[in-house]
Amino acid sequence: MALRTIVTEGDSVLHKHCRPVTSFDGRLHELIDDMRETLLEADGVGLAAPQVGVLRRVVLVLETNVPEGGEPYIIELVNPEITACEGGQTGPEGCLSVPGRFGLVTRPMTVTVRAQDRDGKAFELSGTGITARAFCHEVDHLDGIMFTELASRMLTDEELETGSWQEDAE
Ligand code: ZN
Repeated sequence: MALRTIVTEGDSVLHKHCRPVTSFDGRLHELIDDMRETLLEADGVGLAAPQVGVLRRVVLVLETNVPEGGEPYIIELVNPEITACEGGQTGPEGCLSVPGRFGLVTRPMTVTVRAQDRDGKAFELSGTGITARAFCHEVDHLDGIMFTELASRMLTDEELETGSWQEDAE
């Protein structure tokens, strides 16, 4: 495994459309393993392949909604598609490719995704709250969409610290 460099805002790779994965081979496994290491090192909740410069439909999302005493774990999604959304949430959203900046983004509260695992086996799962937000955010990356394009506005450090953005979210 190796750490990969996370590209940041301004790099054109973040605005490109990613191709589906067709070979579930050692090369894909290496990419996913490297992305896992990179995500954990960066302390993020999600990472998409284009963020490490690879234009393939692969994303990782950290599931933090775990039972008390449980450890968060990484969900690997290959060729993910959002199949259902429910409810809504408005809150601060950030991105490892946009370090230090957060914007107010509205997302569904619950999101169901259909994807394949690293060996090509299809599965479907749902996430709520921050996990639902991360599913949407990461799948958007595969179509070259950045959260900064969706944010109703960007937040100041003060708004983040005091939580005063909540007045706008109601
Ligand atoms: Zn991102």
